[in-house]
This record gives sequence, C-alpha cells and structure tokens, in this order.
Amino acid sequence: MSFKSLGLSDALLKAISKKGYETPSVIQQKAIPLILEQKDVLASAQTGSGKTAGFALPILQILNNEPPLRRRPVRALILTPTRELAAQVQDEFKEYSEFTDLRSTVIFGGVGANPQINALRNGVDILVATPGRLLDLENQGALSLSKVEILVLDEADRMLDMGFLRDIKKVLALLPSKRQNLLFSATFSKEIKKLANEFLHHPVLVEATPENTTVEKIHQTVYRVDKAQKTDLIIKLISEGNWQQVLVFTRTKHGANRLSEKLEKAKITSAAIHGNKSQGARTRALSGFKEGKVRVLVATDIAARGLDIPLLPHVINFELPNISEDYVHRIGRTGRAGASGEALSLVSLDEVGYLKDIEKLIGERLQPKILSDFQPTETMAEVKAAEAEKKKEKARRQSRGRNSGDRGGTSSKGQAKRGGGRR
Ligand code: AMP
Repeated sequence: MSFKSLGLSDALLKAISKKGYETPSVIQQKAIPLILEQKDVLASAQTGSGKTAGFALPILQILNNEPPLRRRPVRALILTPTRELAAQVQDEFKEYSEFTDLRSTVIFGGVGANPQINALRNGVDILVATPGRLLDLENQGALSLSKVEILVLDEADRMLDMGFLRDIKKVLALLPSKRQNLLFSATFSKEIKKLANEFLHHPVLVEATPENTTVEKIHQTVYRVDKAQKTDLIIKLISEGNWQQVLVFTRTKHGANRLSEKLEKAKITSAAIHGNKSQGARTRALSGFKEGKVRVLVATDIAARGLDIPLLPHVINFELPNISEDYVHRIGRTGRAGASGEALSLVSLDEVGYLKDIEKLIGERLQPKILSDFQPTETMAEVKAAEAEKKKEKARRQSRGRNSGDRGGTSSKGQAKRGGGRR
C-alpha cells in the first residue's frame, strides 16, 4: 500500500517523500482513511508506530481542503501530556505542512508565555498544547477554542496517569460540540474507555498491533479439498450456513477477482478488494460490506491490513497464506473483544506444507476434515501439471496482450464502431 492510495493530496505526498517515508505504517494505513472520512477514532498505538503522522497527515488534508478562516482561529487542537511530545508533534506538523498554506504552533508550560502569545496572535490553524498552559492562555484571552473542528488526545493514557483528567474536561467544555475527536493511547484501561465513551461519537476502533497469538475464542476448522472444488465448497458453506457477513482471503489479486465473480454468479453478493483497486473502489466495497449490501468481501492480505473491519462472525481462508503470521492476522478478524468467531481454511494438497508451518507457529494441531461430497482425489503429479499449465497460460496471455497491444489501436476502434451495444 502507498501513501497515495490512502487518498492524500500531492502537497502532502511531496512532504512525505521529502521525509523519506516509503510506505505507510499499519496505524497510518488504518487511521488515515477513517480520519479523512471525518470519523471519530479510538486508536491503540504506541510511540514508534508512526501514530503522529497517522493523525497529522489527514488533519492537514482536511484543513487544507477549505480556505483558511479569517484571522486564522485554531481549527485543530492536539493535546499531549508532555512538552517534549508537544514539541515533537508540532515539528512533524511543520514538516508535513511545508507545501501547504497551513500554520501551526506549540504551547507548553515551564517557559515564558510571551513568545507563545505572540505566535498565537498571528493566527494558527493547528495548535499543539499541554493542557495546563492551554487553559492559562485561554483564561488570559490569548486564544479562542470556539472554532476547533478536530480534537486529538495524544498518549491519552499518559495524560490520565499524570493527573490531567480535570484539565481535559475543562478543555472539552471550551470546544464547540460539533467536532471530530481522535483519541490515541498505548493502552486501553477502564479509565481510558470511560473517557472515550464520554467524548467520542460512534468511534471506530483501530489497532496498530494485531494480536500475535491465536485467540482461544476463535473456532478453527480446516477442510482438505481439491483445488478445483474449492469454489463449490465455499458456496455450499456460505449458502447452507446462511452466513451474511464473511471475509474471505485469497493469496493473489486475480484470485480475489475470480472468486468474487464466481460468488456473484452463484447469487452471493460479493466484492473484491486488493492493491489494484482505487481507494474509492475499496471504500465503496467496504461500506457495502459493513452495511450488509455485500455479503462476502474477498481480500488479499495486504489490502485487508489497511482496513478497519468490525468483528466478524466468519473468516474463510480460500487459500492459506504462505507466510504463517498472516494466518494469525487473518483469523484475528474474527472473535475479537470477547465475541466468538469461526475461521475456516480450505486446504488443497499443495498447501499442506503451509498448514504444517501454521501449526508450528500457533502451537496447535489443526486436524483437517473431509466432507463426503468433496473427497480429495488430486495427486501431487496433477497439482504440478495444473501449475505448469497455468504458467503456460499466463505466458500465452501476456504474449497475446503484447501482440494485440502492437496492433490493437485500429482494430479495437473498429470493433467499438461496429458493435457498440455488444458487451
Ligand atoms: P511516532 O510513532 O509518531 O512517534 O513516529 C515514530 C517515528 O517514525 C518518527 O520519527 C517518524 O518520523 C517516523 N515515521 C512515521 N511514519 C513513518 C513511515 N511511514 N515510514 C518511515 N518512518 C516513519
């Protein structure tokens, strides 16, 4: 996944590449699209996860979409527990906003207030602050918070540990009630959850660190089946189980597209998401899935990582991942937060080795089941022959593509003219 595919503007992409970042971190992949959709977000992210850019970039983009307000009142407020963190966060804002017209400043206690008051007087769009100094300056009339559109509580757990709860509440009371709220915290204690409940509005939960061990709550089933019968089996499982919200993983983008088409043919609404789809197409597929219009979302590992999908009752591995850790990430999409979930894997002969690796990683034996209508008959020789045939077919397709690309211009135009309605 690239920063561009997250929907960030050229001005921000330029700053990102100047910083030398190549790919978004997990928290960035998850949080940026949600923040751009102006959702409230409750994020679990540690220092070092890239969380600052995870909120700074989308905030800059949102603010930059509108011309600056007259006199530049504060539109985004970031509260941090310490001055070091405040300074660091503002440094990042400054760097990421280099190619925009947005201004930011930082205020914290322990140093003279006058330079800070002067900086505020000129107007800033983004203010990074520690709570005590913020309240002081607000009391003195050096700033107004009445135009704040976005609030971030950064390292909220540390803020509570340091006794800032009362100050946070005082700040909240100074903000307009209609605003976007983002809470970042390394841990989710009872107190953090309580605070989140008090001021976040239908928050989306995002986690930077998916659980690394298989959760006992997840019921794992493995079916041994021939490759050629996997589609029939998955259709049977979904139809007979009457499952309404299923996330299916494939190893390749083409595999995701093919399976999604076959499910549609079987009258099971489906959408594929992977790296070749635009951000818009992915967002549409995801919201259709969340709203229940799309029953099956077929995804590749990489595409799924950046998505925030709520707890799901069923996750199916149409193919096993060749990296065992991906299995744990995939099935972690079900059965989280105390709910039970079911993870099914369809394993063909060529994937038995992957299954062994996964068993080793999770320290658990996954005894495969065989369904009577789906008795595997494939031999290794057949699997190898099928793979060789697939390779040849791919090479033929590529060479056909190249050839038609050489001559294609006129002939395809001609066809379009002749057969307008035929598609
Ligand atoms: P944070 O967790 O926000 O404190 O960020 C930790 C460090 O990672 C900071 O020094 C950032 O400059 C850096 N960083 C943030 N995002 C990325 C990225 N996508 N690629 C490489 N470095 C990053």
